[in-house]
Amino acid sequence: MTDLGRGGVGVSFTHETLPQRVVFASYEAAGHVADEVARLSATRPMVIATAANRALADPLVAALPAAVRHDEVVMHVPTDVAERARMVAEKHDVDVVVSIGGGSTTGLAKAVALTTGLPIVAVPTTYAGSEATNVWGLTEGGRKTTGVDARVLPRSVVYDASLLLSLPVPLSVASGLNALAHCVDSMWAPRVDPIDQALAVEGIRALSQGLPEVVREPQGIAGREQTLYGAYLAAVAFASAGSGLHHRICHVLGGMYNLPHAQTHAVVLPYVLALNVPSVPASGQRMAAAFGAASALEGLQRLRERVAAPRALRDYGLRETDIPAAVDAVLAAVPPNNPTPVTRENLEDLLRRAWDGGEPV
Ligand code: NAD
Repeated sequence: MTDLGRGGVGVSFTHETLPQRVVFASYEAAGHVADEVARLSATRPMVIATAANRALADPLVAALPAAVRHDEVVMHVPTDVAERARMVAEKHDVDVVVSIGGGSTTGLAKAVALTTGLPIVAVPTTYAGSEATNVWGLTEGGRKTTGVDARVLPRSVVYDASLLLSLPVPLSVASGLNALAHCVDSMWAPRVDPIDQALAVEGIRALSQGLPEVVREPQGIAGREQTLYGAYLAAVAFASAGSGLHHRICHVLGGMYNLPHAQTHAVVLPYVLALNVPSVPASGQRMAAAFGAASALEGLQRLRERVAAPRALRDYGLRETDIPAAVDAVLAAVPPNNPTPVTRENLEDLLRRAWDGGEPV
């Protein structure tokens, strides 16, 4: 594993930039979504938003041509839910999908795009970041399958931080730390390159400044903007760098034990950081600087304390007796380029500590 954080000497990489328009401005989503739909010459939109997000979606829908609305959204996109959404799109002959919501809503729009090729205009209302990736996910019989396909990358993303003012603080914290995990894991993920690392460290800076501000003043727009900007950078870095050890662990835990997505990421991150950072000291220094701390782990732990982060997997439904099977499943999925060699022993230790919220080592 090259510690790309050293940089400068023998720079050599291949980086693919995904084609996507991004419009970022608070309080302007309605106009911008209408503009993006018009740019696609679309006139028959299908708007996907949960019933709970209806009040957020209504002003955006009012600015669009007459839209078909769809609100059956389920986390991790079960295949039957995807199939029903595809049938609605087909029945109404829609020509663009507008998703207004978190990662689950964006995920459903992606499932529709995957089989229909319809363009997506995504309006995120959490910090999950799915809108900036070409990764789709579907779940059948408790098994989540993910894949990469150019058709699912939203053509446009409209970011409006005011849409996140209603996201409750605990969810904001978990979701923001999920974004932070995209940054940290991107530093050593399988396809990491210097561009990803540049985006990731700027993402860490923005998230570590924005998130405490969101907690301090949940109705303030400045903290929401910083955090949303950081979440976007995080997702772009992650889309390019791929899934590192942290994401492999969370994917296994989420799939096998149905743990909540963002909270699982929020808990596991310091343990993976503690395992990997000694093997990539230069990357560690860059992350530390982005956190404004003496070390990356200290910066992360200080941030987690300030925002009262989720602490232990046992609080989210993992049982201690689940750990051995989780170790087996994660071992089979460890990326070969992970900076610190992963063994049954250090992985089991990591999961046990994450399970009861122990000190990361
Ligand atoms: P989510 O979309 O399920 O939303 C979590 C909760 O927040 C829901 O109850 C929702 O109604 C509520 N909510 C959303 N926005 C709100 C707002 N502004 N105000 C009040 N409540 C609001 O959760 P998530 O964490 O955003 O997304 C998780 C899903 O996204 C997972 O399935 C995950 O696998 C997927 N994901 C995919 C990618 C990718 O690249 N494909 C990336 C990140 C996440």
